[in-house]
Amino acid sequence: MDMLAIAAHPDDVELTCGGAVIKMVEAGYKVGVLDLTLGESGTRGGVELRRKESAHASKVMGIIHRENLGLPDAGVEHRRDYKLKLAQRIRALRPRTVILPYWEGRHPDHYIAGQIGYEACFLAGLAKLPLEGIPHRPYTILYASLYVPNLLPTFVVDITDQFEKKLKAVLCYASQFSPGQDWRNLFPSRGDCRERLAAQARHFGDMIGVRYGEPFVTREVAVVTDLVNMPVRSI
Ligand SMILES: [Zn+2]
Repeated sequence: MDMLAIAAHPDDVELTCGGAVIKMVEAGYKVGVLDLTLGESGTRGGVELRRKESAHASKVMGIIHRENLGLPDAGVEHRRDYKLKLAQRIRALRPRTVILPYWEGRHPDHYIAGQIGYEACFLAGLAKLPLEGIPHRPYTILYASLYVPNLLPTFVVDITDQFEKKLKAVLCYASQFSPGQDWRNLFPSRGDCRERLAAQARHFGDMIGVRYGEPFVTREVAVVTDLVNMPVRSI
């Protein structure tokens, strides 16, 4: 597998890096998604419905694989058994690049998924751990940082051409949307959803001079060999 996006709940990948996932699928890469929980603690939609919605969204994005680790929703914790369970799957799937949720934020499931995801990537490469299969450590770890809007990203992916498909994938999670207006705005209507996603993507797209973008953070330092043609903001 070329790229694996890991997130806490079904729909997190679609919302935070769905455009980048679609872009890599379109580029011919084999991309998969691993959700840590089924989102069973969510106010709306039962597990079966959310599973169906997730399968539908996967089809829209064109990914080759999606699985769920079955950790408890609202219960993603720093537990060794969770880290090993995830490391085992990373060994089995052998992604070159992993996308994780940014390691800080409001929802503990999100930021702990980023933290234990990082540790699991490391553990997957250790030969002497009680894991099956051949040790494997992803070459690159990227953090999707859209849920932390005030953060300055390391880079932004141009998703202008993927935006409509991203929106379509997000809207597969119909149970999470209100038919009408929701005054608390916890469950936006479909129209609100389009507006919100477009506003977010526009904000980050603006940083690199394109219409729509998705933000990422890296902890690793990038290698640059050509200073004349560095891919920075288009003018
Ligand atoms: Zn979530």
